[in-house]
Amino acid sequence: MRKGPAREEAAREGPARAGPVAAGCCPVCALVCGASRECGRCGWLLRGDHVRGEITDDLEWEFGARLATARRRFDLPAVVRVADALGSGDPGLADRLVDLVRGGPPVPGELDAARRAVRTASPWPAAAPTAMATDTVAVGRLLSRIVAGEVRRGGPPSSN
Ligand SMILES: [Zn+2]
Repeated sequence: MRKGPAREEAAREGPARAGPVAAGCCPVCALVCGASRECGRCGWLLRGDHVRGEITDDLEWEFGARLATARRRFDLPAVVRVADALGSGDPGLADRLVDLVRGGPPVPGELDAARRAVRTASPWPAAAPTAMATDTVAVGRLLSRIVAGEVRRGGPPSSN
């Protein structure tokens, strides 16, 4: 069994931070996928091959780590977009929003990569309809949490 900070982080995320996942929806981007093998928006593998033998703790840990990474990388561009749009008068906003990202705190370089991706993305929705739909879901979720009072100016997010 693996030990260490990554496993502790995965255990700390828990279902509340990960948010609900409706049946038939992608656990990363929430697209309704039905019986698809792979998510048509984010590419998450929804139905893989059968696992031979026992599902070990290491297999579960590896799956949880991959899912956490995919969720974090899906959510971080939304943080960048919201912070860019609202953040100049509130320098701590991005840090508070990062606390809401599913998958735990970003690993070094992930937030910078999200900034680069957002700032180099096409501003024309017609050129990237999938990216725009992805942003709409993630930004909408973060804005909902701001409106619900989970993100406050100058304070830590409330626990849930
Ligand atoms: Zn997806």
